[in-house]
Amino acid sequence: MSKFHWSAIVFAFAGFTMIILKVGWFILAAYIMLWLLFWFLMSFMIRSNFFINVIHQTSKNNVLLSFDDGPHQEYTPQILEVLKKHNAKAMFFIIGKNVEGNEQLLKRIHNEGHIVGNHTQNHKVGIGFNSTQKVINEIDKCSELLSKEGVDVKYFRPPFGVTNPNIAKAIEKTGLSCVGWTLRSFDTTKSNAEQLLAKMVSRVKGGDVVLFHDTQKVTVALLDKFLIEVKKKGLTLNAEIL
Ligand SMILES: [Zn+2]
Repeated sequence: MSKFHWSAIVFAFAGFTMIILKVGWFILAAYIMLWLLFWFLMSFMIRSNFFINVIHQTSKNNVLLSFDDGPHQEYTPQILEVLKKHNAKAMFFIIGKNVEGNEQLLKRIHNEGHIVGNHTQNHKVGIGFNSTQKVINEIDKCSELLSKEGVDVKYFRPPFGVTNPNIAKAIEKTGLSCVGWTLRSFDTTKSNAEQLLAKMVSRVKGGDVVLFHDTQKVTVALLDKFLIEVKKKGLTLNAEIL
């Protein structure tokens, strides 16, 4: 049972008690609203393992780099070059619709020893409101595309890190393992490479799973320097998941 299931039992039990005690409808409505708000907020907290068990750990002297939303024709090859230079292995969470026209790039990621993961077919903004079946379709379509290119997928990362009961059920049914992160770069919202680099270097530590996007110019601009600093801290850069 997930933490969500336990919370639903507490919600039902306390709610039922309130009905028996004949509390006013206003209090009951406020009670329900507060629980809904709580569950809504938890859907953005992938690290809480609230709806599903999420992996966000690598070994304690390692930093696991992950790149979401690619492959990107221009930036992904540059990122691969930097990783190769440092003999670093990473995870790439691929959006199925981005594979078209980038099939060779996908194969290159795979052949260079990185782990390829599923990041849904379309990376829909409204995925949090989709039925379980719709989410399954989104995951399956992406997995099928990847396997057509010879890449078998074991790992999944939900778009925007959103989890909820439907997404949790869909992940369970597809048999993939859900991977989160411990250090978010915010490279999709920040464009100053120097500032972002300084922030990331001061925060990164052994055991971190770092979230980057291989669709961002700023990520390409800071990656080499970032990896140099990570190595200076005596940390390895392997695609190890615990
Ligand atoms: Zn994404």
